[in-house]
This record gives sequence, structure tokens and C-alpha cells, in this order.
Amino acid sequence: MSYIEIMSLEKFTIETVLSVKRWSDHLFSFTMTRPQAFKFTAGQFARIGLCVEGELVVRAYSVVSSPYDETLEFFSIVVPNGAFTSHLNELTVGTDIYLEKVAYGFLTLARYQSPEPHDLWLLATGTGVAPFLSMLQDFEVWKNYQSIYLAYSVRTREELAYVDQIQHIVDVFSEGHQGFKFIPIITRDSSAVLNQRLPTLIETGDLENIAARQLSAETSHVMLCGNPQMVEDTKNALKGKGLTMNRRGVGNIAVENYW
Ligand code: NAP
Repeated sequence: MSYIEIMSLEKFTIETVLSVKRWSDHLFSFTMTRPQAFKFTAGQFARIGLCVEGELVVRAYSVVSSPYDETLEFFSIVVPNGAFTSHLNELTVGTDIYLEKVAYGFLTLARYQSPEPHDLWLLATGTGVAPFLSMLQDFEVWKNYQSIYLAYSVRTREELAYVDQIQHIVDVFSEGHQGFKFIPIITRDSSAVLNQRLPTLIETGDLENIAARQLSAETSHVMLCGNPQMVEDTKNALKGKGLTMNRRGVGNIAVENYW
């Protein structure tokens, strides 16, 4: 092993896969052990490594589980012939997996200073729902926001993962909270209640209609996560409604590109 490889391995701990759940032939989740020293804020991502043909290959994954959980959960797509995900897809219980010791990322609610918390819009495509699942498992979020909307866009019904878990999270965390709405969007299913892409739903007002709430520069915190083109197009649609990017704490929109 070269000097560089030894140096970079020092940044990692070796963890163990505890469970694997398959949602479809190209979507799966897994949990793994969490070292006590690994701290993160809901919305952040971890860097996970696998040994592929003697090389450490590392990718970023948003944490699905709550910062209070004893284990770490991640949600992944299998990219056809992907150097990393095709190996990750072979995980079984007991597999060793590398975890970088620090977490990264700024898609966290603490970034918002102005406007003050009122309405939280979490807009995801595909596996981009992951950081929002972590955020929703924090009582502070339910306390701070009067309304919370989780819009989750997938191509087909079978790709709509975590629906039961979202219901479970709501049951556990939303006690006394009247303002949560889950808004599934299935873009390639003409029978779905919503089947337009997020930017279109914003431009037509359909997203606001289904939420029964207006997007507004005064009251909205909007987080976008998933397909980079969705992030770009949705950002523009939101700017068309008068919302601004959150910079140095001020503004409405915070984003994370997923690949
Ligand atoms: P996706 O193509 O990102 O579609 C998921 C949802 O996003 C669908 O509802 C889709 O609508 C919508 N969408 C796509 N482009 C949009 C846009 N410009 N504006 C608004 N909504 C948009 O599907 P995915 O399964 O999550 O990912 C697809 C491919 O992306 C994968 O097969 C993989 O190759 C790549 N990917 C790579 C990585 C990586 O780490 N390298 C990670 C994730 C995904 P439509 O049905 O209308 O398209």
C-alpha cells in the first residue's frame, strides 16, 4: 500500500453493514454501525468508501437517519456500470465499509437567519429525499416551523421509497402539529394526482394549491435536493415567485446537487 493510501485511510473508520433494504432493482438503503465520535447535523452528508480492486473509492451520501440514532442509514441508486454504486449494490450484512470521520455540507436548517422560520418546503427528486428524512426526525424542526411540506418527485410509483417511514416519522414527531403535508409527485404516471415536474408545478401554482399555502419571500424556507437540472430549474421557478437564494443566512432557497 502506498504512503498516500495509508494517509487517506487515517481519515476513515471501518464500519459494518447492519442491514440492506431493496426498494426496486436500482434503489436500496443500508444501515451501518456509527462510531460515537461521528457527529453530524441533519441535512449533512458522509463520505463512504469501498475497496474496489485494491483502491479506496469514496462517494458522498446524505445521511437518512437522525443525528440521535445509534446507527447510520443511507439511500442509494445503482448507476448502471457505475464504478461505486454497482459495488455498493453488492453489500450484505457484515460487509466492512469505510466512513470518513467528519460529516460535510451546508444543507442544514441552522443556515437560515432571515426570514425567521415559518414555512418549510422540502423539495426532492429521487434519492435526494435522504437529507429531508433526517431533518424530519428532529423535534426542533416541528417546533420551529408552523407548516412543513415535503414534495418528493420520482419517475414511477415503485421508485416512491420511504412512504411508510415518512408516515411513521409523522406519527412520532408531529404530535400536536397540524401543518405537515406530504406531496408525492410521480412524473411518468398519468394516473398520479401530481405528475408534472416541480418547476412546472411551481409556475402553474399547482404546488401551492395542493399545499394550500403560498410560497413567499417573507415566510418560506425552501430546500432543494436531487437531480442537478431539477435544482437549477426549480431555483429559477422560485426566483420567478420573488424568492432569493440564501446567502450568509439571508434568503429563502438552499440547495444540494446530488451528482
Ligand atoms: P431522475 O431522472 O433524477 O428523476 C427523478 C425525478 O426527478 C423524476 O420525477 C424526474 O421527472 C424528475 N426530474 C428530472 N429532471 C428534472 C428537472 N430538470 N426538473 C424537475 N424535475 C426533474 O431519476 P433518478 O432515478 O433519481 O436518477 C436518474 C439517473 O441519474 C440515474 O439513473 C443515474 O444515472 C443518475 N444518478 C447518478 C447519481 C450519482 O451519484 N452519480 C445519483 C443519482 C442519480 P421526469 O420523469 O419528468 O424525468
